[in-house]
Amino acid sequence: MPAQASISRRQLLKGSTGPAEFRPRPPGVNLVSLRDCTRCGDCVSACPEGVLGLSDDGVILLPVRGECTFCGTCAEVCEAPVFTTDFRLSHTFVISNACLVQAGITCMSCRDACPEEAISMQPRIGGPFLPILHQSACTGCGACVAPCPADAIHAVRKEPADA
Ligand code: SF4
Ligand code: SF4
Ligand code: SF4
Repeated sequence: MPAQASISRRQLLKGSTGPAEFRPRPPGVNLVSLRDCTRCGDCVSACPEGVLGLSDDGVILLPVRGECTFCGTCAEVCEAPVFTTDFRLSHTFVISNACLVQAGITCMSCRDACPEEAISMQPRIGGPFLPILHQSACTGCGACVAPCPADAIHAVRKEPADA
C-alpha cells in the first residue's frame, strides 16, 4: 500500500515533527519477547552494521545509522529468549511532508537506496517526481532512512493487513 505520512494535530500539540514515538526493533524481536531483554548490549556490540542501540525498555533498531541486512548475528549472540524465529520486522516506514520534493526540490535518494525497489517516483505536473513508499514491498531494512537529506522517513508499526 503506498503511504505518505501527515503530521497529526496531537503530534503538533506535543511538539513532535513526525510519527516519532514508535521504536523499531531488530528482526525477531516483538514487544512480548522484548520483556526478556536484560540490556546487556551483546547484540549491540555484535551487529556488523552498527544499527542497534539500547533504549530504556531494551534493544532498539536505529535506521538512521544504516541498513539492517537480516544477517542474524544479533539473534545468535543473545543469551536471553529475546529473538524469536519470526525474522520479519514488525515495522515499516512512511515519508513525511518534510520530504524535499514537497518544497519543489528534486530528490530521489530514498528510491536509489532501497534494495527492494519499494519506493517509486510518481510523475507530477508542476513539480518534481513524488516518492511513494509501497509498504507491501518494504522489508523494514531502513536503507532509505540515512540517505534522506531531510530526515523525512520514519518507522511506524506495520498494520496486520500488511504483515
Ligand atoms: S540482523 Fe544483522 S544487521 Fe540486522 S540488527 Fe541484527 S546483527 Fe544488525
Ligand atoms: S525500509 Fe528498506 S525496503 Fe523499505 S523502503 Fe526503505 S530501503 Fe526500501
Ligand atoms: S530521500 Fe528524503 S527528501 Fe529525498 S525524495 Fe526521499 S523522502 Fe524525499
